[in-house]
Amino acid sequence: MPRTVIKTEWTIRSLKDRQVPVKGQAVVIENGRIADVTADPPTDAETIEVPGGIAVPGFLNLHNHTINAPLFRGIVDDLPRRAIGESKVYSMLMPMGALAMTFLDDEELEALVAIGLLEIMKSGATTLVDQFRPRQRVIFDLARRWGLRFYGAPYLFSPAAKVGDATVAAAARGSFEGDTGLAHFERLFADYDEGPSGRIRVILGPHAADSCAPDLLAAANRIARERNLLATIHLAQSQGEVDRVAKDRGMSCADYMESVGLLREGVIFAHGTHLTAPELAKVAASGAAIANCASVFLRGGKSPNFAHFKAHGVRVGLGTDAERMDFFSQMRATGFASKQATGAGDSGTAAELVHAATIASADILRRPDLGRIAPGAAADLIVVDAMKAHLQPIRDPLRTLTWYASSADIDTVVIDGRIVVRRGRLAGIDEAAIIAKGRAATAKLWDEAKRLGHFPPEAEPASAG
Ligand SMILES: [Zn+2]
Repeated sequence: MPRTVIKTEWTIRSLKDRQVPVKGQAVVIENGRIADVTADPPTDAETIEVPGGIAVPGFLNLHNHTINAPLFRGIVDDLPRRAIGESKVYSMLMPMGALAMTFLDDEELEALVAIGLLEIMKSGATTLVDQFRPRQRVIFDLARRWGLRFYGAPYLFSPAAKVGDATVAAAARGSFEGDTGLAHFERLFADYDEGPSGRIRVILGPHAADSCAPDLLAAANRIARERNLLATIHLAQSQGEVDRVAKDRGMSCADYMESVGLLREGVIFAHGTHLTAPELAKVAASGAAIANCASVFLRGGKSPNFAHFKAHGVRVGLGTDAERMDFFSQMRATGFASKQATGAGDSGTAAELVHAATIASADILRRPDLGRIAPGAAADLIVVDAMKAHLQPIRDPLRTLTWYASSADIDTVVIDGRIVVRRGRLAGIDEAAIIAKGRAATAKLWDEAKRLGHFPPEAEPASAG
C-alpha cells in the first residue's frame, strides 16, 4: 500500500481540539488519511523531507469569489467613499462580475478562473468555499483536476420584480434573467457533488439578504435540509443592506434569516459586519457561523473584528473574500483588526486565529476530520519552509506562522493525501501559461469596463502626466 511520510522540524499537531506545536514528529499518510504522527516513521515509504519546515493543517477558507481577486487587483484599493457610494458591492463589484459573464468567451473566463485558482492552490488554504455566477462551472473542473477540496456555492438571485431596490436587482444581470439560479444549481449538483465525504461539494449560495426574496431563501433552505447540504449567504455586509432588508421585509437581517429557516447550524453568513448585539446573540444561539473577512473591510476603513464576534459567542471562521487570497496575510489582518479595535495586544492571538482557520472551520463545514493533523484525519496539510531569515529563530511556531509567514513560504501542499504542490510549484501545471492567459483575459475586460465607465477616476494609476 503506497505511503507517504512528511518529515519536518515542527508539526502543528491536533490534540483534544487544540493545535499544539511538537518537534521531531513525522506525518504518515496512507489512502488519503493521516495514519500516524510519529517520531519513528517507516523508512520504506515515499518521503518528503523539509529540514526546518513546519507541517501545518491546511487552512479552510470559508468565503471567497476566486475570479474577483485578479479582476479587482489594483482597482478597488485606495478608493474614496465618493467613488463607491455606501458599499463597493453594488456600485463596482457586481457590475464588473456581470460584465465578465457577458463579455468574455469561455476560454477567457476559464483563464480568469485559472489564474485565481492557481493563487488559491498555494495560498495555505486546502479547502475553499466559493460563491460565483453561472458560466463558471469550469471552477469545479479545475478544482477536481488540481486536487483542491472545494465547496462551490453557485449564486441564487431573486428576479428583479421581487427585489425592492433597482440597483440591487441589476446586480444579478448577466446571470439568469428572470430565473433564480435553482435550475442551474441542480445541474451542477448532479454533475459535480461527491457526497458527504467527497472532496468536491455543491452547496446552496443565495447571494445576499437584500437580493433574495423570502420564497427563494425558503426554497434554498428546504433543499439544504433535505440533502444535508451547507448553505452560505452574504449577511449584513453594509448599512445599505440592513436598511433595504428593514424596508423590504420589515425586519432585521438576523430575523429575516430566521423567518426563512436559515438561522441555524449548517449556514455560514459572510461578514455579519452590521449585525447588532441582539442579532449576534441570536446567531450564536442558533449555531450558524460567520465567515469573517477582515481585509476587504479594512481596505475601506472599516473593521469588522474577529474578537467582537467571538465575544458574542458566535462560531467564526475566516475568509479572504478575494482581497488577496494569501491565507497568512488574512490571518494577520484579522488579528491586527481585533487588536486595534479592542486596544489589547492579546486580542486575536495566533493560537485563536489558527484554531478558527482550522478546527473551528472544519466543524462549521461538518467535517471534524479536516483542519487537523491527527491519526484518522483527512491528509490535508501544508509545509512551510521556515529556514528563512524572516522566519527564524522560532520561539512559537503558531506565532511565526501567523505574524511572519506568507504563502510564498509554502513548500508543499497535500490534499486528500495527494501532493498537489511541491517546492512551491503546482504539480503538472504550466504556471507561466496560466498567468499569461489570465492576465490577457483581465486586460481585455478592464479595457471594456473602462470604456463603459465602470471605473471611477480614482482607480486610475499614478502617471507622469
Ligand atoms: Zn463575498
